[in-house]
Amino acid sequence: MLAILGGKPTREESIPYGKQYIDEDDIRAVNEVLRSPYLTTGPKVEEFENKLCELTGAKYAVAISNGTAALHAACYAAGITAGDEVITTPITFAASANCVLYCGGKPVFADIDPDTWNIDPEEIEKKITDKTKAVIAVDFTGQAVQLDEIKGICKKHNLILIEDAAHSLGTKYKGVHVGGIADLTTFSFHPVKTITCGEGGAILTNNEEFYKKMQLFRSHGITRDPFLLTRNPFKGYNEQVELGYNYRMTDFQAALGISQLKKLEVFSKRRAEIVNRYNEVFSRIPQLVIQKEIPESETVRHLYIIRIKSDSLKVGRDEIYKALNAENIGLQVHYIPVYYHPYYQALGYKRGICPVAEALYEEILTIPLYYSLTDEDVRSVIEAVTKVINYYRK
Ligand SMILES: *Cc1c(COP(=O)(O)O)cnc(C)c1O
Repeated sequence: MLAILGGKPTREESIPYGKQYIDEDDIRAVNEVLRSPYLTTGPKVEEFENKLCELTGAKYAVAISNGTAALHAACYAAGITAGDEVITTPITFAASANCVLYCGGKPVFADIDPDTWNIDPEEIEKKITDKTKAVIAVDFTGQAVQLDEIKGICKKHNLILIEDAAHSLGTKYKGVHVGGIADLTTFSFHPVKTITCGEGGAILTNNEEFYKKMQLFRSHGITRDPFLLTRNPFKGYNEQVELGYNYRMTDFQAALGISQLKKLEVFSKRRAEIVNRYNEVFSRIPQLVIQKEIPESETVRHLYIIRIKSDSLKVGRDEIYKALNAENIGLQVHYIPVYYHPYYQALGYKRGICPVAEALYEEILTIPLYYSLTDEDVRSVIEAVTKVINYYRK
């Protein structure tokens, strides 16, 4: 591709904005399961669940087919049904709101904090009605939400707190791993996330009743538990007692997850190095704004976002995006406000309900951040951003 600003692009080969890292140990772990009697949910799934509990301190974990299914299961466990309202952030992947629709409920969007870009606890409180049943708070880019404040609000209004921690595996809030803090915490192990199972997810909780409901939900609502059966004529006899789904994780996905989890610390350390380098440089560029961190969050960063100050530049985000892309830097925009999607517009959601989120959306760009990004890659990202911003500054 030709650089829009003329001359050679900053890089010959393009860098993606995110990428998984798979080593020989991962491949061996998956191979071993493929030679074993169990392919789908078996001993490796249980082992993965135990590892997630060990890491986070949560009492129970249910591994599931993906992060979206995890959110669906969490909403189901929380008892979301027709007519219920659930408050969430507009700056998230659509799945954080879709899971409410799956249960017949209504997503209600509360605006974000202008500096941390996470859901603003005060805005949550403003959106509570007598129909509100739960809050889905998203640890955007990996930074923990203000859990104490949000938990306080949930307690006061008798709401269930679901933490969408798809971005924040490994993150600590006040020294405690996310996973055992909210009523239900969901993770995703999609390849672009900090660790991967190919596809995969999990829900963590300290509540035994939620745990049992979600185990049934993951596998058709069918049970062999003698306490739940109406009769028990032979070994293997089973009955369907709830309306569940087939959301099972396979044992080879779980084996990959276990192997990846061993690398979480090295992954996190490298991500932090890159984030520090970006912060150093970008905080000194007057045309850019970087994400503010709350001191309570010890963040394992999943995404790195730069915000442009539109009024200091001759062009908008889309032009900056195109110019950087032409320098062979892979980018994304996380996220378009959920209610801007045509599906949500057709449901009747109007633009203007979360002005802080809407203003953010116009000015953000996600730049490359992943474990195997080299120092040289980081230098070219910085060089390209600096070049494009200098070219277009007023
Ligand atoms: C990735 C993601 C999900 C969905 O996870 P999948 O495993 O892709 O289904 C949900 N919420 C957020 C915030 C995500 O980033």
